[in-house]
Amino acid sequence: MPNATPAQQEAARKDWDTYFMDIAYMVSTRSRCPRRHVGALLVQGKKLLGTAYNGAPMGVADCSEEGCMIVEEWEQRAAEGGPEMVKKQRCIRTIHAEQNLLLFTDRNDREGSTVYVTDQPCWTCANMLANSGVAEIVFHRGYPKDSDKVGRLMEQKGIVFRRLDGYEPPPQAGLAVTD
Ligand SMILES: [Zn+2]
Ligand SMILES: [Zn+2]
Repeated sequence: MPNATPAQQEAARKDWDTYFMDIAYMVSTRSRCPRRHVGALLVQGKKLLGTAYNGAPMGVADCSEEGCMIVEEWEQRAAEGGPEMVKKQRCIRTIHAEQNLLLFTDRNDREGSTVYVTDQPCWTCANMLANSGVAEIVFHRGYPKDSDKVGRLMEQKGIVFRRLDGYEPPPQAGLAVTD
């Protein structure tokens, strides 16, 4: 905006949430699991301290080379008329973005930090994040399968857990999602 006033320039400037979520989406483009590309960041006082995406361990064949490794499992859910069993499918070849983020950051850096992640964490990642020192988790796309129990966990732990409403990811970020 060459002729914009300072106020217009300020209004057009990305806010911190958008700034960090854009970065998380760019990180997610490194993922090679066709089911879902997830990016996660560790942010401490507006400083970026780590980035991670979902993928196989370094040096090991990934989903694009050997295909996803799909497992099915049953989970008990509350329903009208009593609990019912629901079947879930997932790819277990990859380490999830949030888990990789924990593997590549220090505990001291995580205390009181914020994690930005493109997707609402699954139960396992949420459980690990809950024990990681993180104080806030900001996500964009929902993950309805685990949403209720993850929300309850975050409430119990007093972790700020918020979805970025009205956010638009950068168009370059491939939006692969298969549930
Ligand atoms: Zn996969
Ligand atoms: Zn996960």
